[in-house]
Amino acid sequence: MTDVCRHDVIIVGGGAAGLRAAIAAVEADPEISVALVSKVYPMRSHTVSAEGGAAAVARDEDSLEMHGYDTVKGSDFLGDQNVIEYFVEEAPKELTRLEHWGCPWSRNEDGSVATRAFGGMTTKRTWYATDKVGFHMLHTLFQHSMRFDRIVRYDEHFVTRLLVDDGNVRGVSALDIRSGEVRAILGRSVILATGGAGKIFPFTTNGRIKTGDGMALAAAAGVPLKDMEFVQYHPTGLPGTGILITEASRGEGGLLKNSEGDRFLVTYDYGVGKKAELGPRDMISRAVVQEIEAGRGISGPYGEFVHLDLTHIGREKLEARLPFVLELARTYAGVDPLTEPIPIRPVVHYMMGGVDTDIDGATSLPGLYAAGETACGSLNGANRLGSNSLTECLVFGARAAQHAVLYSRGSSEGNESALLAQAEAEAARVSALRRHKKGSEKISTIRRELNTTMEEGCGVYREQASMLATVQTVASLQDRASDLRVSDDSMVFNTEVIAALEMKNMVDVAQAVSVSAAARLESRGAHTCRDFSSRDDENFMHHTLCYLEAGGPRLDKKSVHLGHWEPEERKY
Ligand SMILES: Cc1cc2nc3c(=O)[nH]c(=O)nc-3n(C[C@H](O)[C@H](O)[C@H](O)COP(=O)(O)OP(=O)(O)OC[C@H]3O[C@@H](n4cnc5c(N)ncnc54)[C@H](O)[C@@H]3O)c2cc1C
Repeated sequence: MTDVCRHDVIIVGGGAAGLRAAIAAVEADPEISVALVSKVYPMRSHTVSAEGGAAAVARDEDSLEMHGYDTVKGSDFLGDQNVIEYFVEEAPKELTRLEHWGCPWSRNEDGSVATRAFGGMTTKRTWYATDKVGFHMLHTLFQHSMRFDRIVRYDEHFVTRLLVDDGNVRGVSALDIRSGEVRAILGRSVILATGGAGKIFPFTTNGRIKTGDGMALAAAAGVPLKDMEFVQYHPTGLPGTGILITEASRGEGGLLKNSEGDRFLVTYDYGVGKKAELGPRDMISRAVVQEIEAGRGISGPYGEFVHLDLTHIGREKLEARLPFVLELARTYAGVDPLTEPIPIRPVVHYMMGGVDTDIDGATSLPGLYAAGETACGSLNGANRLGSNSLTECLVFGARAAQHAVLYSRGSSEGNESALLAQAEAEAARVSALRRHKKGSEKISTIRRELNTTMEEGCGVYREQASMLATVQTVASLQDRASDLRVSDDSMVFNTEVIAALEMKNMVDVAQAVSVSAAARLESRGAHTCRDFSSRDDENFMHHTLCYLEAGGPRLDKKSVHLGHWEPEERKY
């Protein structure tokens, strides 16, 4: 018999969005009980690895209007402007609140909060704590969350399914990784805060755990995934490992150079114009690829790359502002940035798309909310600006929780036996997987093939033919993934079973990405199609909705919430 736990609000994910949501939920209602379910110990969430900073207006020279406009333009006019307006207003409040909870933001000489330049932002508005921002933010949130005993943690619990009764979500089934048992965690509302899905690509800055689970859980419950075609490449990853060299290194003055030592972003017109190294990520990534294609890359054991040169910045500033970059480059690239340039190439970094939500984080399934990278509330449109994401987790984590609490108050508990039957079915599915020794497909083979086809079809530059080929390949991998061979039948810490569950989720997410990409016959933000090289507002100024149904994926459209920032050509 499945173990049953009861709470009011269930939050899946212990990263910045999940922890902020948990705190907001208990603060919104003195009675409420919150379950915080995470497949890893919360401090191991990907948020911890964020380096460069979090954006919010902090200086007199800046304004909410400017932050709003930069975000709208960065999104290539696909961001929802009501969402963006709310975001820029709340951003400074959230970062200040975090400081009151203990986040050690770096300061200027006069004691004011220090801000640095970031790509696509017209002025310095990225708050930082040296270059270990995610670590400090997550620590602050985690420690603050521990003040509330009404936040009950289920660490190392892998959520396998949303439990739905009578058209409302009423809980989740979760595999306790330590014991191998499947629990039913019942509640009146659920918030997905499960992060991104970079692992569907071979070369990514993303941690091992970013397998798109929340997106797949929502899609399996009939909720559409929105704008999945927009996958962000970060221009500066280390070749081989994909480890991120933060955009803050360009914010602090780093220059990109080709094999001839030329600062190519200013020499050639790639659309980044005068901003050069401070251009947005999509454009700089394309410029790097073009430079390599033109034969001005540098060859290495992991393919062609270009250089990120920090040598002119000087030891004192680098050690004070970018100590982690120095450490990463020395350890993982074998170069000392004080004296040598760092090899870099574009690397998959962030999913603009995700679970379709409105401004409150609500999805089309009553009681289900989403926030953080797994959600698509349409702040980022076709391209996210660096440092908006950490702030997004706070602003919309809090808002989703406040609305989930309101929803919980008016909602009943549902038919418990129907919910438990679903959890039992999940327990049986996981148990069958453990005994799946005779399956014919290896998890590693499917993963490799999935990664390869995603890079071929949905890379920095895309083409219709290769996108359609990827759609076909992913569909065949979907069939094959139902016959995985799992050789470990143990109950305790069965990582092979987890890998199998994650694999299924990754294939679902990859399907949504490739199908959505193949249908957008234009170039906008991170979706750059060689066959359709310009933006087409007349036919494609809409969000893509992708439903994953039993008969295959189905696409629909959703209108963009425009406002006072009129669409115009995106030039810097
Ligand atoms: C290397 C790197 C550097 C970055 N730097 C910056 C930066 O400087 N500024 C910026 O704004 N953004 C940055 N980003 C992006 C930003 O860090 C992320 O978008 C953000 O931290 C995501 O937070 P999240 O709370 O949505 O998810 P995550 O922090 O990824 O947390 C996801 C949580 O969900 C849980 N989970 C997932 N699946 C399941 C499941 N099936 N069952 C139970 N639990 C589950 C995990 O255990 C985890 O706790 C960076 C990203 C990377 C990869």
